[in-house]
Amino acid sequence: MSLDILAFGAHPDDVELAASGTLIRAARAGASTGIMTLTRGEMGTRGTLAARASEFDAAAAIMGLAHHGMLSLPDGWLTPDRESKLAVVREIRAHRPRIVLLPHDEDRHPDHPAAARIVEEAAFLAGLAKIDTGQPPYRPAQLIFYMSTWEFAPSFIVDISDVIEEKRRALRAYSTQVFVPGQAAGEPPTFIASEHFQELIFARMEHYGHLIGRKYGEPFRIRGVMEVDDLVATFGGRTL
Ligand SMILES: [Zn+2]
Repeated sequence: MSLDILAFGAHPDDVELAASGTLIRAARAGASTGIMTLTRGEMGTRGTLAARASEFDAAAAIMGLAHHGMLSLPDGWLTPDRESKLAVVREIRAHRPRIVLLPHDEDRHPDHPAAARIVEEAAFLAGLAKIDTGQPPYRPAQLIFYMSTWEFAPSFIVDISDVIEEKRRALRAYSTQVFVPGQAAGEPPTFIASEHFQELIFARMEHYGHLIGRKYGEPFRIRGVMEVDDLVATFGGRTL
């Protein structure tokens, strides 16, 4: 199977929080999309492993993913070691994504920069024929970093205004993790599960939407610079 976009997250819900609007838009436009988590989120304060897996399934259906799955690298202890990179090399070769989304390489949770290194290095290593996984070598065309807790100056912002309700539904699928009115009673309180956090992530999407003259946006960064083909098509519709 060949995917247009494969997003890697350290934990279930990382990609949904940062980039699900972009994945939903891409799937609507006919792209094949997928999410792989490096861990199963076993260190999470709330929710069982089974609950987190079924939340991931529900969110994947809402996002229209062609593929989703979990690796079993150690939550809380992600390390850019050989075995972790090889696990991601196998995923990249199995799904041959043109574009890979990954966490930014500077972030608050130590698993996020570790995941960034694992995925970035694996994307290169996947193209080396002499690394034998029994699969043909393959290297993605582009790596794109998404934003979790710590901010960065984005290379570009994707307008997600038209899919914001689908993104809200995908996030609410994670009812043990995020704020869902009237749910997860009895679970210990966490910042991620607070109503305040929910307001913050929507405020951030509004902030980045505003920067491109839209209602809601998701920011991304690439190494290097982007080519623009058509100035009028790219900038002519903006109302700043
Ligand atoms: Zn995370």
